[in-house]
Amino acid sequence: MIALIVAYAKNRVIGNKGQIPWRIKGEQKRFKELTTGNVVVMGRRSYEEIGRPLPNRMTYVVSNTKNFDEEGVKTVKSLKEAIDLAADKDIYISGGAGLYKEAIDLVDVMYNTEIDAVIEGDTYFPLFDESEFVKTIDECVDAEIPYRYVTYTRKSAWERHPVSKKETIKYYPIEELDKTGIVISLYTTNRDSAWKYGKLGADKNCKKLADTLKIDINDMVMLNQTHSDGIRVITRKDAGEMVTRPLTKDGFDGMITNEKGLLLCTVEADCVPVYLLDPVHEAIGMVHSGWKGTAKQIAANAVKLMSETYDCRPEDIRIAIGPCICADCYEVGEELKAEFSNDFSEDELSRIFVNPHSDRYNLDLKKAICISLKKVGIKDENITDTGRCTKEDDELCSWRRDNPVMRSMLTGIMLKKD
Ligand SMILES: [Zn+2]
Repeated sequence: MIALIVAYAKNRVIGNKGQIPWRIKGEQKRFKELTTGNVVVMGRRSYEEIGRPLPNRMTYVVSNTKNFDEEGVKTVKSLKEAIDLAADKDIYISGGAGLYKEAIDLVDVMYNTEIDAVIEGDTYFPLFDESEFVKTIDECVDAEIPYRYVTYTRKSAWERHPVSKKETIKYYPIEELDKTGIVISLYTTNRDSAWKYGKLGADKNCKKLADTLKIDINDMVMLNQTHSDGIRVITRKDAGEMVTRPLTKDGFDGMITNEKGLLLCTVEADCVPVYLLDPVHEAIGMVHSGWKGTAKQIAANAVKLMSETYDCRPEDIRIAIGPCICADCYEVGEELKAEFSNDFSEDELSRIFVNPHSDRYNLDLKKAICISLKKVGIKDENITDTGRCTKEDDELCSWRRDNPVMRSMLTGIMLKKD
């Protein structure tokens, strides 16, 4: 966890001539409680003001000019180095103004002491977008100058509901994958629903998405999806296919790559987007798994091909199931069952085809995909599910709900460039 801890006056003043311009008894209580036993990160001037190591905690001092190393103190060159060095430990960034400014976009939580007075000073806490955080007032203290402890916890992307501006594409990230720090993963909504090469507006949407993600449009790759079980190995030379230029190879519904900076994209409207990420070998996959692909275990094929091509171990591979039609909404006829019977046992079929009623069933595509994935060595705890049903959620695209209007969502994953 990356935390920031700060005290500021009503006019956002945090300091004056290198000093804290107030003395309020007890005001630093929370600082001590939170940081004891943890890592505190501060700038050179803040550290020089304190002038000694803080007891019972590790202090990283960000400085390019001086070395403060001693017991309990480590000098680092940048905030990034401090974050890397702390690894899994919680860090508390405690100023000054420059470091706060740099940290504010990175922090998970801010512990702010808001002092109820205007105080003269020359350094200020930066303005931040409060709508990005959930604010809780933890305690109001009626001292000679009243103050309160406020916690700002960053909202998840889900809570932020990123309503984008006109020239951007609205999308949701798959947080479990993105938080590894090595990928960008996403699914779009029904706001921008033309994606297939040649379809009216698709080129514009692709350009807008590339702009939104700050990548080149030719860094995107798409397929001519045919409900096959084929997985294609993508390299740099395939960049731009079905985005800015036509397809060169047909018969694929999934892609894998270990090249950085290529956004592998599929499109869905009820079918299941399956994202794959091996953070150890830095390889990814994006699969479109409708009922046909699911019956042929296309997601498991992608795992196998990642192992063959990039030496991935299935136990390292993380899977995300994107938004798709849920079993409750997906009624199918009995004839589909036969299509699954080659590769799934009777017992498995009874878990995939549920709720029998006359000669119909509800088909649980996600269950079928998870069964196939586990058979090739994917661990249960490495599978995550966005849990959104395309048919029930009218922010998403559903063929069953919207047909004959064909609208689809783009789903994509990209290994970030270094
Ligand atoms: Zn549903």
